[in-house]
Amino acid sequence: MAVGERTRWAHTYADAVPALSVPWPAVAFPQPRLLVWNDDLRIDPLDLTTLVGAGADTRALVYSGHQWGVYKPRLGDGRALLLGELPDGRDLHLKGTGPTPFSRGLDGRAAVGPMLREYLFGEAMHALGIPTTRALAVVATGERIERDGRELPGAVLTRVAASHLRVGTFQYAAATEPGSLRALADHAIARHFPDAAGSPRPYRELFRRVVDAQAALVARWMLVGFVHGVMSTDNTTISGETIDYGPCAFMDAVDPATVFSSLDTTGRYAYAAQPEILRWNLARLAESLRPLDEVEDLLDEVPRAYARYWAQGMAAKLGVSTPDAALATDLMALLHAQHVDFTTFFRALAAGTARDLFPDRAAFDAWAARRAPLVTADRAAMDRVNPLYVPRNHITDAVLAAAEQGDLAPLHRLLAAVREPYVERPGLADLTRPGTGPHVTYCGT
Ligand code: AMP
Ligand code: MG
Repeated sequence: MAVGERTRWAHTYADAVPALSVPWPAVAFPQPRLLVWNDDLRIDPLDLTTLVGAGADTRALVYSGHQWGVYKPRLGDGRALLLGELPDGRDLHLKGTGPTPFSRGLDGRAAVGPMLREYLFGEAMHALGIPTTRALAVVATGERIERDGRELPGAVLTRVAASHLRVGTFQYAAATEPGSLRALADHAIARHFPDAAGSPRPYRELFRRVVDAQAALVARWMLVGFVHGVMSTDNTTISGETIDYGPCAFMDAVDPATVFSSLDTTGRYAYAAQPEILRWNLARLAESLRPLDEVEDLLDEVPRAYARYWAQGMAAKLGVSTPDAALATDLMALLHAQHVDFTTFFRALAAGTARDLFPDRAAFDAWAARRAPLVTADRAAMDRVNPLYVPRNHITDAVLAAAEQGDLAPLHRLLAAVREPYVERPGLADLTRPGTGPHVTYCGT
């Protein structure tokens, strides 16, 4: 690739807030090989050299974060680099490019399996209409890396994101680079909520917008049974996009305590804990913004906005025209008590076969009798909001194991299914089956 092409990417963020990133090169990978390329993003082809960051003007971003509730003053891109910003303003970011000043003794590498997983989940979430970063490519580096005593093939993921600004970015600026805080907030406004710039209190308006975007996001997660797994403040974006697919998964049988991360022994980031953790994370953002404006009173809007988005979403899923929080909440309790698969239930409800999923049919009948008079949507309308195909845990594991052995066909088949999650197609019934064994747990990176 010509040098001129490499320099076409802007670094408006690094230019606006120089203290929050450092120029840093990728390590050299002698034998990169393209595994997957995402045509759906409609980005001009990039050569392999660029996809592993070789010779590019890459930057490592710095941020802080509360991980598992513990404040880490300096995290940052420990294994990632920002390649630059596309002409439309989105970030192009590489993950797995080697150590940086923020690696904290870790190897700076990423493995093929988890990077293909990030690709798969981003595509699934996007197809579900849920804001998310998306992978453009996964390249095998040719290296072997060590994880949990195993040797695994290494990879670099290229992803596209509205930005990589996080709550943790504001925490870092507030604590360590206070002179940069205003420029950071101005950049975030210009990039994500430009009309907030005209507000008499722009930083308060910024916070209000982040609250709304994140409340909507987490409600969308809950409505598809998604457990992020690592809702640390550095994984909570300012844009309202889902970021960093690690030990995340879609819940099978409903259980509020569902976790998939082997590290989450207390259930801090469990399925039902996510809305409350969001509020906690946004409280950290509110504290960080304090030098610019008082916003803490707006935190009460987090549960309110969340409840609104969730109730609206549940109304659509249940085919009723008016949100009925009690009907929806009681359903979740019933699904939990009766161990019913979350995704299966809503399709079966539309098909008129949900009753068969409940060991205690009378309990379902009592709930269904409350819903019946409220129903306004037909089966087709309900099927348009209730996915049939999500990347189920046990299927994803099998597909990625095959990919690690060099067989990408099962991954492409699953990708094709989850990219059109609402439309039933022949020959894909195996992908709709809930997992049977205990939840697989993993650290995920
Ligand atoms: P994550 O849980 O993927 O959001 O990562 C949390 C932090 O750990 C980020 O600062 C990452 O850059 C860093 N990190 C994770 N894995 C590695 C690794 N293998 N090498 C260096 N840094 C890492
Ligand atoms: Mg992260």
